[in-house]
Amino acid sequence: MDKSWMNLRDRLCKEYVNGIRTFIQVAKNHVNKEGKSRCPCRDCQNAFWKSINDIEIHLYRFGIATTYQRWIFHGEKVDINYYKPVDLNSGIDKVDHLDDDDDDGDDDNNDDLVDTSQSRYVPMGNIQEGSKTGGRQSSH
Ligand SMILES: [Zn+2]
Repeated sequence: MDKSWMNLRDRLCKEYVNGIRTFIQVAKNHVNKEGKSRCPCRDCQNAFWKSINDIEIHLYRFGIATTYQRWIFHGEKVDINYYKPVDLNSGIDKVDHLDDDDDDGDDDNNDDLVDTSQSRYVPMGNIQEGSKTGGRQSSH
């Protein structure tokens, strides 16, 4: 999506007006229950929730925050390609970890090291002396 209009100083020129229209269309699809969305104007900086009408007014009055190049608060996905080198062939999985918060289970590897040092004293073979070998069927 072309966002060069965001850097325009003339907020009344055709490109800027069209850009705001585009944004408003996007924002309309990402409103909360009250019909409000984050306002990306320079005054609100996405910190405040405004109605679509107010957002439009703000964008004309204050201008859109030029730092808001990716409309992540309005449904636009963060571009992963932005963070990784272009020529990387197999590094896609590593980059995906930026979004992944679930890193459970990785710490178990440290326990294995401790176990091997202790298992020397455990006699091998007699470990499976369980109580499951019985199986009496005194069904009288
Ligand atoms: Zn605003």
